[in-house]
Amino acid sequence: MSKLMISVSGIRGVVGKTFTPPVIQKFAAAFGLTMGKRIVVGRDTRVSGSMVENLVTGMLNSVGCDVISLGIAPTPTIQLAVENLRADGGLAITASHNPVEWNALKLIGPDGLFLDEDLGKQVANRAEDHEFVHQDWTGIGKIEYYDSAIEEHQRAILDLPFIDVAALRKRKFCVALDCVNGAGSVFFPKFLKSLGCEVIEINTTPNGIFPHTPEPLPENLSELMEAAKSPDVDIAFATDPDADRLAIISEKAEPLVEEYTLAIAVDYILSKRVGKVVVNASTSLAIDDIADRYDVPVIRTKVGEAHVAKRMREEEAVIGGEGNGGVILPDIHYGRDAPIAAAIALQHLLEFGGPISELRQSLPQYVIAKMKMDIGDSDPDRILEQVKSAHEGEEISLIDGVKILREKSWIHLRKSNTEPIIRVYAEAQTGSEAESLADLFLLEISSNL
Ligand code: MG
Repeated sequence: MSKLMISVSGIRGVVGKTFTPPVIQKFAAAFGLTMGKRIVVGRDTRVSGSMVENLVTGMLNSVGCDVISLGIAPTPTIQLAVENLRADGGLAITASHNPVEWNALKLIGPDGLFLDEDLGKQVANRAEDHEFVHQDWTGIGKIEYYDSAIEEHQRAILDLPFIDVAALRKRKFCVALDCVNGAGSVFFPKFLKSLGCEVIEINTTPNGIFPHTPEPLPENLSELMEAAKSPDVDIAFATDPDADRLAIISEKAEPLVEEYTLAIAVDYILSKRVGKVVVNASTSLAIDDIADRYDVPVIRTKVGEAHVAKRMREEEAVIGGEGNGGVILPDIHYGRDAPIAAAIALQHLLEFGGPISELRQSLPQYVIAKMKMDIGDSDPDRILEQVKSAHEGEEISLIDGVKILREKSWIHLRKSNTEPIIRVYAEAQTGSEAESLADLFLLEISSNL
């Protein structure tokens, strides 16, 4: 599959196949003209990144925009810089967890959030219609190289009132770290050392050669799990190539599963301040159980950072994010942020006093089974409609696809916008229960094909 994917938050494709210079240029020009004069540009470490950056910067300059260039930086750092530098928008050049042949432009608004639907459509339409004029030599924009964004982001986290830097430095956690040679490599080692950690670095050379499949899922983290077997290691962290998602491995070299990155953050933040929590529709019930302990509501949105972030701002939530390891802390900004997730995990571990495996055990226990069904030419909306009517009388949420809510379990069915599949996620208190629930609904879908 190498279709160019256009969504409200950007465009994504395979470099040289669908993500080509003409495509990149028209989106960069359309974005600049839609957003305004000053545009922040940053990228992850992908080998194609500097080529894409040159195209983007040249095109922005040619339509009269000034570019503030951050070079290699995590996506959350780019989002925060857009806000801090009062720019009119930002472009993050990264295909996030996608493999090395992919790249993408993520479109950021002046508030540091990914573009909402209206603005995203404006940019896409303008790009499609080639609705832009190039400046003559008097109107060409400038480039400014800005190299303090990472330091400012780190400083903001160290200054959080609940991060006890002195106590963390005294504790000297030993952390194994895998940044998959992505943008986390230019942030995490120094950041963890500033929190007093001894860091065992794996894949922290920012060369964009991903030594394993870059999504930070347990099956891709065998090297890190091997390193975590050392008796010195207290905790291990893995990031995806643009460092917005964080996965945690225990001192027993066992993955906590990404859902528990957010669960740990929610558990910690609610212990410090009581308030609303916002998560996406597929996020673990562990969050609801933790919120119950503090008697605060959990609000659910469609899947996707833009939806969660926007709702968090509207609800004045104290913490939120997505179950895939994306923690959003409004104290700093409304973006999924792996460094923030890591700092909260370390602080929580410090105050907990025991090992991370025990902290994980102290949280509500759930397992999500993630499956998908190829539906060929069948209409996904019709299938979802049939499943919905077959379960009339049960509690159903239609926020995003069809989600059937039961006591301590749920089944969530969503169509894909890019592939002929329906995703079937099921959560329950044990893995076998979750799997049999998901299997049951796969069967139900196949009987409706
Ligand atoms: Mg990412």
